[in-house]
Amino acid sequence: MSTRLPQLINGEFQQSQTDTWIPVTNPATQEVLCEVPAATAEEMESAIQSAREAFLEWRETPVSERARVMLRYQHLLKEHHDEIAEVLAKETGKVFADAKGDVWRGIEVVEHAANIGSLMMGETVENVARGIDGHAWTQPLGVCAGITPFNFPAMIPLWMFPMAIACGNSFVLKPSEQDPMTPNILAELFLRAGAPKNLLQVVHGGKEQVDTLLTHPEIKAVSFVGSVPVGQHVYRTATDHLKRAQCFAGAKNHMVVMPDARKDQVISNLVGASCGAAGQRCMAISVAVFVGESKQWIDELKDELAKIRPGAWDDENAAYGPQISPKARDRVLTLIKQGKEEGASCLLDGSDCTVDGLPDGNWVGPTLFSDVTPDMALYKEEIFGPVLCCMTVDTLEEALELVNNSPYGNGTSIFTASGAAARKYQHEVEVGQVGINVPIPVPLPFFSFTGWKGSFYGDQHAYGKQAVRFYTETKTVTSRWFDDDIPDGAHGGPNMTI
Ligand code: NAD
Repeated sequence: MSTRLPQLINGEFQQSQTDTWIPVTNPATQEVLCEVPAATAEEMESAIQSAREAFLEWRETPVSERARVMLRYQHLLKEHHDEIAEVLAKETGKVFADAKGDVWRGIEVVEHAANIGSLMMGETVENVARGIDGHAWTQPLGVCAGITPFNFPAMIPLWMFPMAIACGNSFVLKPSEQDPMTPNILAELFLRAGAPKNLLQVVHGGKEQVDTLLTHPEIKAVSFVGSVPVGQHVYRTATDHLKRAQCFAGAKNHMVVMPDARKDQVISNLVGASCGAAGQRCMAISVAVFVGESKQWIDELKDELAKIRPGAWDDENAAYGPQISPKARDRVLTLIKQGKEEGASCLLDGSDCTVDGLPDGNWVGPTLFSDVTPDMALYKEEIFGPVLCCMTVDTLEEALELVNNSPYGNGTSIFTASGAAARKYQHEVEVGQVGINVPIPVPLPFFSFTGWKGSFYGDQHAYGKQAVRFYTETKTVTSRWFDDDIPDGAHGGPNMTI
């Protein structure tokens, strides 16, 4: 029997009493790595109540002590960086360098959370009226919850609980059931960093467990990252239960290629940004929009894409790994088939991809389409595979119109040598994260991760100052201290005006 993954409830890693266990597989081999429980209703309740108790203590803990937990946590994560990345690589299939990047981008958020003292500073104005001062404090909310997707099992949990906890909240994390081993290690190290034992709870499962978090009165705010339909369900349900919610959802990201861009840079960046992580990134470039004569580079792009191949996590010559599951692979293959039927030109077809020695992996080879039009499923759906769609337009204005008509708005980039073209694009594009000669413009943690339109539901984004606003409430205090030298009221008697 394979290992059964524990949950972190009430400060202890404990085995679930559930009879529903979900297998976690290595997507390159289908080997079962462990089984993950679907938490019982009692376990969910216990985790939430325990987090509530933790909050009452933690909110009184001085901000520098909270910051010091993050400093120790950052140190431990760095010390165990490669070990975490290896587990992550096995359960996601990501190649090792990419798995290390997943951990590293999370560590950067922990570093940011260690600055919490200055991030939580409120505002004050002296003498808002004679002898009266105004202050705005930021105070934590209570128990916050996080629901995370499979594609970044280190980075995305680390977007959430370090910032929420540094702000003085406690946190219940429900990671993806497809790769829950990495989040468990993150939680173990958090305890080792000296965090109070019941501050972070990790429960496992799927829809049922998520719905408990969305409807439980003790949960004050919900952070979600995942697909569009689930994101909409989470946002609607959480807000219907009068909770704060920030929901990061799916995407379709365009790279606009101007004819004055450097061809070699365009091609190598398109290869990495479309097929890296097997295209399973919410910021992957899935559409290349060639403006004018740059369309002549599509053949060379095909030649470069044909040189890369997927493989096992520890295969140094593999560019990327498998799709997360056979179901995910079948979905990508169906979209490729549909693209051909709808009339797109398939210049490179990765449908029949095999990898030597790994016959059971969820492989999809690099795939390139041209002549893609906005009405095709290839364009409308988030493919989430190593599939790049090429479209052509005559002008930058047409490219902007195409991108702005997309219902998504997570990320985009423009490759050009023209400052004027780049300025026009960054100003007019209706997308929240823009790269100029940078293919995947994920902001560092002192900014915020700012998807727009159908890629995000909510208003305050992940990490940066916006995360502090999301995980705190502002309290304004107007104060006066009576002083015998300052008379109370100019005209004596009660003041009857506002
Ligand atoms: P998913 O929506 O299937 O799952 C996300 C989480 O929701 C998981 O924890 C899962 O257990 C839970 N869940 C699944 N079905 C549910 C349901 N019916 N009700 C309640 N909860 C449910 O997403 P995924 O396949 O794990 O992740 C890939 C998706 O995430 C892609 O669409 C990708 O674009 C998106 N994503 C977005 C961002 C972003 O920042 N915008 C970042 C990473 C991933």
